[in-house]
Amino acid sequence: MTVTRATFDEVMVPNYNPAGMVPVRGEGSRVWDQDGVEYIDFAGGIAVNVLGHCHPELVKVLNEQGSKLWHLSNVFTNEPALRLASKLVKATFAEKVYFANSGAEANEGALKLARRFALDNYGEDKNQIIAFNKGFHGRTFFTVTVGGQAAYSDGFGPKPGAVDHCDYNDLAAFEALISDKTCAVMMEPLQGEGGIISPDVEFIKGVRELCDKHNALLIFDEVQSGVGRTGHLYAYMGLGVTPDILTTAKSLGGGFPIGAMLTTTAIAAHLKAGTHGSTYGGNPLACAVAEKAFDIVNQPEVLEGVVQKEALYRELLTAINDKYDVFSEVRGQGMLLGCALNEKFQGRARDFMVAAANEHLMCLIAGANVIRFAPSLVIPDEDIKEGLARFERAVAAVAAGVNAE
Ligand SMILES: *Cc1c(COP(=O)(O)O)cnc(C)c1O
Repeated sequence: MTVTRATFDEVMVPNYNPAGMVPVRGEGSRVWDQDGVEYIDFAGGIAVNVLGHCHPELVKVLNEQGSKLWHLSNVFTNEPALRLASKLVKATFAEKVYFANSGAEANEGALKLARRFALDNYGEDKNQIIAFNKGFHGRTFFTVTVGGQAAYSDGFGPKPGAVDHCDYNDLAAFEALISDKTCAVMMEPLQGEGGIISPDVEFIKGVRELCDKHNALLIFDEVQSGVGRTGHLYAYMGLGVTPDILTTAKSLGGGFPIGAMLTTTAIAAHLKAGTHGSTYGGNPLACAVAEKAFDIVNQPEVLEGVVQKEALYRELLTAINDKYDVFSEVRGQGMLLGCALNEKFQGRARDFMVAAANEHLMCLIAGANVIRFAPSLVIPDEDIKEGLARFERAVAAVAAGVNAE
């Protein structure tokens, strides 16, 4: 059976608008399409393919687990899930782990736990959830409502209630909003989808202090920033601020769908048997792959490599900008970088992404004004250089078009 991009329009729900080519194979940070055209991958499956495509050790463990045991449900536990949870507990502040299949599901679990914790300890009036404008927490109805982009949550009828937002990095606005009725604060310790925005250290420390003052749980959504992405195992480790609940997904599975919610024993106790669950969560195939990905990422040389590769990106991007004057700033951390477009190129991030694809480079955007790179943490330096050479041609093409207008 022959399928092409045109098949998408015939048989798929039109909620996505994928690129014109159809990828069929990947290896490391290179991908090939149906016509054998080779692309360099700076998108990483949206910050997921933490070790690139078909990393030999992940393929090996997938095959081994695939011929042993795929699925049980949570009526039984399994060895890969128990090992992965033990490693997550050992490496972080957390003492307990809940497995899900995606970032949104991990966040859904975190929000339900926070609400239940507040209800059990303080009564039903303590139910407010505070989150931040431009934040992104997933697409279930609860998580998309907590996310700070009304465009994603409007148009689906009545939303879950008691969810309020204020601006990221605005401590005064946050202080005005939080009270003893606040049950939890959900935030990304580096906003991804919203435009690659780092928190001010004073702001994030202030949020932690105000949560403590009002007995509100602090939830860090590290779905995009976690598992080595910033050069720290988790971004909170580089900020010196520890959350009460942390969610992790994307890079956690290296491309196999998995999510997890991490917390303390005292908080976890409020999700008693039967209160929450998932058929697939903690599936042995997903956990076996994630365990191997986690073992590889959680090594000093891999995390240091992220810092070195960030420096290489920044050096080469600065050289491109010196020549074409398109970015106001290169921001973000580690292998989660954003090129913010200057005044002249406002609203054109998508044009750069399309031009990059024409030069056989896969990249991402984060809003209308930021080009985002979220490659593998072990992308070879040659691929960074070749990818940015392609990117420079894309920048030249867009700049020539804009200057001609
Ligand atoms: C991608 C993302 C999610 C949603 O993850 P899914 O696996 O798509 O459900 C949640 N939070 C953040 C910060 C993300 O970047």
